[in-house]
Amino acid sequence: MALLITDECINCDVCEPECPNEAISMGAEIYVIDPGKCTECVGHFDEPQCVQVCPVDCIPVDPRHAESNQQLWAKYHRLTGPRDDAEVPVAAQSPKPL
Ligand code: SF4
Ligand code: SF4
Repeated sequence: MALLITDECINCDVCEPECPNEAISMGAEIYVIDPGKCTECVGHFDEPQCVQVCPVDCIPVDPRHAESNQQLWAKYHRLTGPRDDAEVPVAAQSPKPL
């Protein structure tokens, strides 16, 4: 599941730079999390970094964005793109003309 910032947020600015996916930004009044980018830190860290640093504990999971661990990994791969060590498919060789 993506996480969610509640209206208890005090705009302390601490969480935004900690997010490895740049999913946190300033909203109209408080910070917000883009559910399309939040992976619960899957792929980067063992624990959600924003939750670790938030001084008022106002970042629960967002029940509107239920996702399995597998889906979070898929989101991580979408966000980070192809791996550097991914093999490039070899193009089919056409026979040389005689
Ligand atoms: Fe960013 Fe991780 Fe917090 Fe999601 S859980 S908003 S990816 S720091
Ligand atoms: Fe708001 Fe918590 Fe982020 Fe501070 S760390 S800006 S209180 S959500």
